[in-house]
Amino acid sequence: MEKTLAFIKPEAVCNNNSGKIIDSIENAGFQVAALKMVRLSVEQAQKFYEIHKEKAFFDDLVNNISCGSIIAMVLAKENAVDDFRKLMGAANPAAAEEGTLRKLYGESIEKNGIHGADSLENANTEIGFFFNKLEIIE
Ligand code: ATP
Ligand code: MG
Repeated sequence: MEKTLAFIKPEAVCNNNSGKIIDSIENAGFQVAALKMVRLSVEQAQKFYEIHKEKAFFDDLVNNISCGSIIAMVLAKENAVDDFRKLMGAANPAAAEEGTLRKLYGESIEKNGIHGADSLENANTEIGFFFNKLEIIE
């Protein structure tokens, strides 16, 4: 089964939306194969978002993601990476389709509630960032 990496961002954790988000994820056919709540340091957040380090929004992105706890998950499903991107919706909640997680729980493009890996290669790298093999259901 394909696996992707997702995390619920601090704003959605703070607003008590984690349970509803996980419910939607399971109802959409994903198995939660690993899960942990963590608080990233600024340095860890910079490392996670390294691919965006040249972008104008990099510092805001790093500060947002390290300002509170996040809930990281490995999600298993056929076609998990692409199907999860569809379930999340567009990065900007205002442009996201009705019923998507970002439309429902995102506040703005910076605080869009949830992250999902955008390719199988990045999913594997991101899974390794948060979890070791023993923590993931096969
Ligand atoms: P998508 O690829 O569908 O746009 P994404 O989550 O992969 O969604 P990225 O472009 O990879 O988006 O950016 C990573 C994160 O950076 C986004 O989830 C968002 O929170 C933030 N971000 C993206 N673009 C902007 C922007 N123009 N201004 C501020 N923050 C942004
Ligand atoms: Mg992206």
